[in-house]
Order: sequence, then structure tokens, then C-alpha cells
Amino acid sequence: MRLPRGSVLIVASHNSGKVREIKALLGPHGIEPVGAAELHLPEPEETGLTFAANAELKARAAADAGKHPALADDSGLWVNALNGDPGIYSARWAGPTKDFSIAMARIERELLDKKAHDFSAKFVCALSIAMPPRDGKQGEIKTFEGEVHGRLTFPPRGTHGFGYDPIFIPGEGKFGDMTFGEIDPHAKNAMSHRARAFEKLLHSGILAESY
Ligand code: IMP
Repeated sequence: MRLPRGSVLIVASHNSGKVREIKALLGPHGIEPVGAAELHLPEPEETGLTFAANAELKARAAADAGKHPALADDSGLWVNALNGDPGIYSARWAGPTKDFSIAMARIERELLDKKAHDFSAKFVCALSIAMPPRDGKQGEIKTFEGEVHGRLTFPPRGTHGFGYDPIFIPGEGKFGDMTFGEIDPHAKNAMSHRARAFEKLLHSGILAESY
């Protein structure tokens, strides 16, 4: 699988923040990224039971409907003491209003209910790239995963980032007990689960070298 310079690549997400972030990562590789919403592609239901399964079904649906290669990401927060929750349900825990203060309060409540001492957690990102069907055959698909490990803190702190950033303290880097919500966004983006999955995609040689 290889995407020559000038290839169109569908960014299979309707989340404008995610599309912006992924377009910025693709920019130096001579790829023409186009958002799924710009092509009016439907959003498939995330029925997978793993990050990789959901990333794959989103990439596959966009490549099949859009007739171009497609890139999708699925990500979330994995809390060890909650057996991996909210995990693939990370977005859904925030409810229809996407209020992450509710989701963060639920994590705190569930940890207290369990009298948990282990506050370790990780962010996980699965990135899938799917080719469109050819000669009636399904296109090839490849998936890359990235993780960043750390621990949770309550109450939430910081105004940067999004989602669960204000309760997550990364276990690496020189940031003491600062949360992703407090750390400079450039520093977060350099070490994030998404950046690490993207690095693996780059090392796979599917995209051309950066300019
Ligand atoms: P997805 O769009 O189904 O992949 O949902 C991912 C969800 O996981 C987001 O809505 C966030 O709640 C959470 N998440 C993923 N990556 C991050 C991150 O970098 N910081 C904070 N929360 C994240």
C-alpha cells in the first residue's frame, strides 16, 4: 500500500477538530486531504468492540462510499481500575450534549465507589487507512496504534485541549503533575497517542517522505 504525492485522502471523521489536526499532520506529505463531511459521506455507527475495529469500520465505510483511500481514527481513555472504561465509549460517556465535565465526574464517582487506589490510565488511538474497492474486491486496510500512559487526578485542571485532558497527567516528559489540560498544546500533541499512531503510519512508508 502506497499513496503517491497528490493523492486524495478522505479524512473519515465528522469532528472538525480532529479533521483539522489530521490535515495538519498530512500537509507535509503532499497528500490532498478532504473531510468526510465535505463529501457528504454518512457517518457509520461505531459497532466495534475495540479501538482498532471502530477505526477500521470508519475507514472502510469512507473508502467504499468516497472511492478514494480513507484515514480514520478512533481514540479514548482507558482507566485500569475501571477495566478499561470509558474506552471505546469515551465520547458517549459525555452524553448527547458532549459535556465532558459529566464524563469526568462519572469516572471519579466510579473510582470512589470501587475504593480504587490505582488511578493509572492511558489514552489510546487507533489509526486505520483503507483503500477503495478495486475489481469488485475489498481494498487493503492497515491499522496503527499509539498510546500515552499516565494517571488521573481530580478535580479537573486546565483549559487546553479537549475531552478528558483536564484529569490526565502524562507519566513521561518534564511536566511534573501538570495535566494535559495545563500543558502547552504543542507539547501534548508531540507526545500524544494520536501523534504516536501517526508516527507508525509514517514509518510504514505508505505516505511519501515529508517535504
Ligand atoms: P471518537 O471520536 O469516537 O474516537 O472519540 C474519542 C473520544 O475520546 C473523544 O471524544 C474524547 O472524549 C476522548 N479522547 C480522545 N483523545 C483524547 C485526547 O487527546 N484528550 C482528551 N480526550 C480524548
